[in-house]
Amino acid sequence: CEGRSLVLSIDITSVEQAEAMRRDFVANVSHEIRTPLTVLAGFVETLQALPLNDQERQRYLGLMSQQAQRMQTLVSDLLTLSRLEGRPPPPSHEWTSVDTLMAQCEQDAHDLSQVLWVQSHDLHFEVMGGCEIAGSAAELHSALSNLIGNAIRYTPVQQRIDAVFKLRPDGTAVFSVKDTGPGIAPEHIPRLTERFYRVDRSRSRETGGTGLGLAIVKHVAQRHGAELAIESVPGKGSTFSMTFPASRIREIGRAHV
Ligand code: ADP
Repeated sequence: CEGRSLVLSIDITSVEQAEAMRRDFVANVSHEIRTPLTVLAGFVETLQALPLNDQERQRYLGLMSQQAQRMQTLVSDLLTLSRLEGRPPPPSHEWTSVDTLMAQCEQDAHDLSQVLWVQSHDLHFEVMGGCEIAGSAAELHSALSNLIGNAIRYTPVQQRIDAVFKLRPDGTAVFSVKDTGPGIAPEHIPRLTERFYRVDRSRSRETGGTGLGLAIVKHVAQRHGAELAIESVPGKGSTFSMTFPASRIREIGRAHV
């Protein structure tokens, strides 16, 4: 009939979806590796072809080392992800001190802020002392420092960043990072933990991002029974938080019975 249109819907099976995701992933990885590799190869050719003075040579070598570093970070994040996928869940009887974990993250945060921006951010760490989390110390460190790292990478220098760990009355615990950066528009939020999903590609690259950080955080959270929540107001800032279940949290002194 006139004015009507026919809608065809095609049922894609989950097998086909998985296959499509795998293809996308391989294409993304290839693209991510090809870009720095092309730049690196270009510089090698320049060094071979042109008679450069010392200063020029040093400049090219510096740029080449940046590209090599970019590929190393990417491969290291890919290995972290594949390890997270292939391994059994982290032990529920191995306890990690939150104070130690947060002290490491605080040190990492100051170092990263200095390296990236020369000046530092207004960093505030607040930790409820004497708590422990059950799980993998290495995975937890990687997730927490990824969230803090993102806050530092996306927040203009000297602006405030708060990292907090606190116990709730119901025995659960929350780790959160609140920044005063650009914020994220609501339509992007559900997709942020997808591999290689970026809101601002150039910003991510400039600060050494791989697009895999939040995918790693999400995996670590799931493996520890924790929930990842993202709240953001564009132009004001973002808060990323991980809520750990009571079964994976204890206060030292009470739990050794
Ligand atoms: P990347 O290496 O690109 O930072 P992530 O997986 O860590 O990759 O983050 C995915 C995207 O989410 C980033 O590219 C960025 O657009 C956005 N993002 C993450 N953290 C923040 C933040 N604190 N403030 C604003 N945008 C953020």
